[in-house]
Amino acid sequence: MDKIILGCIKLSDEVRRTRIVLPSLLHLIVYSMMCKWCNCPCVKAGKQKDGTQKYQCKSCTKYQQRAYRYLAYDPAVHDQFRRFEDMGVGVNKAAKFLQISVNTFQKWVLKAENLKPNLCFPKGCTYDIDEVQTYIGKRENKYWITYGWHVDLHAPIGLNVGGRSSRDLKGVVDEVLSNQPKKINTDRYLAYPGLIPQKLHSRGKRKANCIENKHKSLRKDIAYLIRETMCFAKSRRMLEARIRWYFWAKMEPDFFLK
Ligand SMILES: [Zn+2]
Repeated sequence: MDKIILGCIKLSDEVRRTRIVLPSLLHLIVYSMMCKWCNCPCVKAGKQKDGTQKYQCKSCTKYQQRAYRYLAYDPAVHDQFRRFEDMGVGVNKAAKFLQISVNTFQKWVLKAENLKPNLCFPKGCTYDIDEVQTYIGKRENKYWITYGWHVDLHAPIGLNVGGRSSRDLKGVVDEVLSNQPKKINTDRYLAYPGLIPQKLHSRGKRKANCIENKHKSLRKDIAYLIRETMCFAKSRRMLEARIRWYFWAKMEPDFFLK
């Protein structure tokens, strides 16, 4: 009860400024809990097995509790998780910082496997396509991360984590081609001429400059890819999810909450 009264006093200072005194105060009295996601009123909605009161938001319908015994269920922790996107911190350290289990952290990252935005750029733009080499598990196990890069918008397009054969590159090239580019820059790697129509293709040692800069950010921001790293990805799925998260999660801020 103390908390609610304190809440009223605090709120009344704030609402004096915003001039919506009555509805806000009424909300606070009638609904003692506001949604942690959208700040709308919640109503009581049954109990957990251990007797803890559950609440449901009237607006976004999400279930929640006032406090969480296991931090992984706390939206605030989830919010912090999202900020590990480009911190260059490995799974173990990040999970330790958030005080959640490594398994939970990995489960959240793996969700990004399904992060496949339907990108549609204007016609006639210039793209780079290139690969970054990395390892999975051990040094003998080489993998390539291939992706396209919109040179003017600085946006990634298409992603393949796997080998370096024409079949591996084709998905990425096709996604770029579907946006009707004016020009595609690549290095002199032999697989590209068979995939990219000659009139669009520009090949050369320093041609795909922009994407090479992006490779540097990738190596800096994703612990799996840091040079001389001790924490290679253990699985291809995990690596791909990690990169999808890095590339496209900002486009769908609520993605991890679904
Ligand atoms: Zn809500």
